[in-house]
Amino acid sequence: MTIKNNHLNVKKKIIVLGGDGFCGWPTSLHLSNLGHEVVIIDNLSRRNIDNELEAESLTPIQSMGTRLTAWEEVSGNKIDFYNIDIAMNYDELLRVINKEKPDAIIHFAEQRSAPYSMKSSKHKRYTVNNNSNATHNVLCAIVESELDIHLVHLGTMGVYGYGTAGVKIPEGYLDVEVKTETGDRVQQQILYPTNPGSVYHMTKSQDQLLFQYYNKNDNVRVTDLHQGIVWGTNTMETKLDERLINRFDYDGDYGTVLNRFLMQAAVGYPITVHGSGGQTRAFIHIQDTVRCIQIAIENPPTRNEKVKIFNQMTETHCVKDLAKLVSELTGGEIAYVDNPRKEAAKNELHVKNDLFLSKGLEPITLNEGLLQEVTKIAKQYAHRADHAKIPAKSTWTKEQKPGIPTKEADP
Ligand code: NAD
Repeated sequence: MTIKNNHLNVKKKIIVLGGDGFCGWPTSLHLSNLGHEVVIIDNLSRRNIDNELEAESLTPIQSMGTRLTAWEEVSGNKIDFYNIDIAMNYDELLRVINKEKPDAIIHFAEQRSAPYSMKSSKHKRYTVNNNSNATHNVLCAIVESELDIHLVHLGTMGVYGYGTAGVKIPEGYLDVEVKTETGDRVQQQILYPTNPGSVYHMTKSQDQLLFQYYNKNDNVRVTDLHQGIVWGTNTMETKLDERLINRFDYDGDYGTVLNRFLMQAAVGYPITVHGSGGQTRAFIHIQDTVRCIQIAIENPPTRNEKVKIFNQMTETHCVKDLAKLVSELTGGEIAYVDNPRKEAAKNELHVKNDLFLSKGLEPITLNEGLLQEVTKIAKQYAHRADHAKIPAKSTWTKEQKPGIPTKEADP
């Protein structure tokens, strides 16, 4: 059985870089289901990191071959797949772009865990080499192909460092007035200053400059989506067949807050709040992620337009409040543990997301039904969870301590 969304205006050829990942896989299915022609490029590095960390997705994700066969059986749509390291293998990336001639490329293919990026100098260097080269190679290849390709990139709200001093974070740009030497006042628009809180976030800040440069120099059309923390696991398409199930990360490096809380409660592990839990974060449900990317694809910038920046989030929440909410919903016990990150104990976060709302996004916000759905999935696969992998062990500096609870709650 398939679901069909019938509002496709223009069929596009879309390459999804990182299409095997948590956001990339459901996005690929969503766009394919809409009728677009989707091609995935991924080097399966995230699966190799699972091997390195000895921590698998809580949900039993299938091999790429099985995933694609299942999707063709369910939808009748074919998705092609190329296993290419886009950071290391520029020639192959360019060859595929020249062969496929895509209208758009969606770029998810980066190492995306802040704790993983802080584990050791090896992990810091890998994250910088992988992410910076991946983004730069894509931009170079678009220019060298001489094709007018719209690049949609997944950036993160985390580049702003979460401390915004009462300012509502605009969508990318800040209007400033500067005083010249002759005393005149000049208006300028600059990229909203970043304040990255990890090596991973630093690579995302640098991506912004690469986009600005190639947009200015070569008129590359770029949409940069500054995404909040994604929660949930399944989308309409991944629910259609168990072989299409999406990744659910729960380990101390890749498990993101909220999904991690829901999973911890579901398997009878304390809900670990790092530090005071006074940090406020931006969130978006995975179903809205795929919908926002659809909107970005349908609204490309023009050839001479500056980089379009959208804040891809629907709500903000304080971590401590989320822990209380999950605890009330599930009966799980909260454990306050050391904060392995070097960050302020408390912050406020105000974010504008008018651009997506103006393009028709109807935000899915935190509701009991969806929280229960995630809990149900976590309970269904609880037998796959390795509790030893749950605590956050990567620390930002030698002085920081890992976020390990002193005792495990009774299951
Ligand atoms: P993920 O790790 O699940 O997926 C990334 C995919 O890219 C993986 O399948 C990996 O194998 C692939 N990849 C990485 N480097 C590659 C390379 N050099 N060549 C080819 N493929 C490569 O991550 P995700 O959660 O799906 O995140 C996707 C993007 O969204 C990331 O760029 C991330 O920064 C951004 N983002 C994610 C979240 C979130 O909460 N998950 C929040 C904000 C932003």
